[in-house]
Amino acid sequence: MTEQIALTPPADTTSPPTRLMLVGGTWVEAVDGDWRDIVSPGHRGKVLARVPRGTGTDVDLAVSAARAAFPAWRDQHFTARQRVLLKIADAIEARAEELAEVTAVDTGNALRTQARPEVATLVDLFRYFGGVAGEVKGTTLPAGAAQLQYTRLEPLGVVGAILPWNSPLMIAGFKVPAALAAGNTIVLKAAEDAPLSVLLMAEICEEFLPPGVLNVVTGTGRTAGNALVEHPGVDKISFTGSTEVGRGIAGRAGERLVHVSLELGGKNPSIVFPGAVTDDLINGLLLSSRVTRQGQSCTAGTRLFLHRDVHDEVLDRLATRLGELKVGDPLDEASDIGAVINETQFNSIQEYLEEGLANDSLKVEQGGLPPSDGPLTEGFFHVPTLFSGGNNEFRLAREEIFGPVVVAIPWTDVDDVVRMANDSAYGLAAYVWSQDIDQAITTAHRLEAGWVQVNQGGGQVVGQSYGGYKQSGIGREVSLEGMLAGFTQTKQINVRLGHGGTTTPPATTKTGS
Ligand code: NAD
Repeated sequence: MTEQIALTPPADTTSPPTRLMLVGGTWVEAVDGDWRDIVSPGHRGKVLARVPRGTGTDVDLAVSAARAAFPAWRDQHFTARQRVLLKIADAIEARAEELAEVTAVDTGNALRTQARPEVATLVDLFRYFGGVAGEVKGTTLPAGAAQLQYTRLEPLGVVGAILPWNSPLMIAGFKVPAALAAGNTIVLKAAEDAPLSVLLMAEICEEFLPPGVLNVVTGTGRTAGNALVEHPGVDKISFTGSTEVGRGIAGRAGERLVHVSLELGGKNPSIVFPGAVTDDLINGLLLSSRVTRQGQSCTAGTRLFLHRDVHDEVLDRLATRLGELKVGDPLDEASDIGAVINETQFNSIQEYLEEGLANDSLKVEQGGLPPSDGPLTEGFFHVPTLFSGGNNEFRLAREEIFGPVVVAIPWTDVDDVVRMANDSAYGLAAYVWSQDIDQAITTAHRLEAGWVQVNQGGGQVVGQSYGGYKQSGIGREVSLEGMLAGFTQTKQINVRLGHGGTTTPPATTKTGS
């Protein structure tokens, strides 16, 4: 049975602190004066803070500030932007523990297993994009002595970046330093359920950035998010969130022909080939399942395809490891798993569990419904659950549960498991586990996913190309190539040389289309 850790008693909730939005270098309330309570995932009903409920008016002000700041930010030598990004990385690192604690409280992600690593990734991302800022450069065509034909990679302008709640800092790190390094300015829309760590990050950034270069708006998706997507002053929407919302955003972005990139949901296969069942394999499966993030990860490998030769042993050992994990207060160093973000998500996971429990084909190897008494009932806590006897057709194997629920599915034939793995509307991540590296890589090449890991299950690392296939997204992040493709546009400049400014075209000039 998964161990429960006693929760720290909630502090006095009578006067939650307020946190403001960053618009044009000033910390402001919403123009309407409305507020939204941010509720603790770890303590039902505890209000952590109040943040402004931003509307279209606030978005409008933030976009104006970003537009005003754009030319000066764009026109600097790249080393100026680079210096700023590197200073921000140092400043974030200096306040890493504070940021990690706010993340743990705000998102419910456990401090040791998730919140601290997330801040470390944020630091790495600022350093990485600061480091490659000089790579935003064009090409020169060998067009002869009489021509100078070259390209410039220019920033898009104002980027509207929309964040989800599951790992706000890491995903802010996928967008903010990349967009800034390329010379864009930003309006960031924090997730309504977890804006606090992003506001703290903005406070740190603000010390080094000119006013208006980074603006942060809080509020709901329906009002603030929607206003950002539809604002004519926004040149690019960079969205991370659910496929459903992403589809709507893509439609509206398409109507006004604005740049858009989407990082969306996933239901990721994890394929285990026959071979020795080592501790390394079990630990890797645990990591890739993202149960220590309450399964609230778009890259969670929760469709676990186990070859029949190793099926029983892997199940047995994985169930044992899952049972050893400690669920509890996100701030407690002993907690491996924290709390689910909110009641809606908690109930949604519970519905999937109930469906699994009611399915005679499925067997619970570990976990099940959340405890009905004890300290974990004080927050939105689920225990990690492993079902065996799964079938790729089951709803539990097809839909993104976004909870700590793994469904094991047996297989014998490679073609069959590849077909099942690819039989999904999603195509974000995949995992292949095999001691036969030829077999592993061949399989990786056959999988319809934007990111395949072989014999490892960790998170995104700086510099890698990250993005989804199929309904998991459009566009790439985290890498230099992703930055160039996602946050710049190409201008071709053709100059006629050696004619003293005369306008007579050379005899060979053709008319264009
Ligand atoms: P969500 O789609 O509900 O919300 C994401 C963001 O979009 C929030 O800031 C929300 O306020 C905003 N939003 C909602 N409706 C909007 C609208 N109509 N117009 C503009 N903005 C709107 O997602 P979530 O529940 O916050 O996050 C979980 C989802 O995010 C999961 O599906 C997960 O897989 C996905 N995700 C994907 C990645 C990735 O890199 N591919 C990473 C993390 C999370």
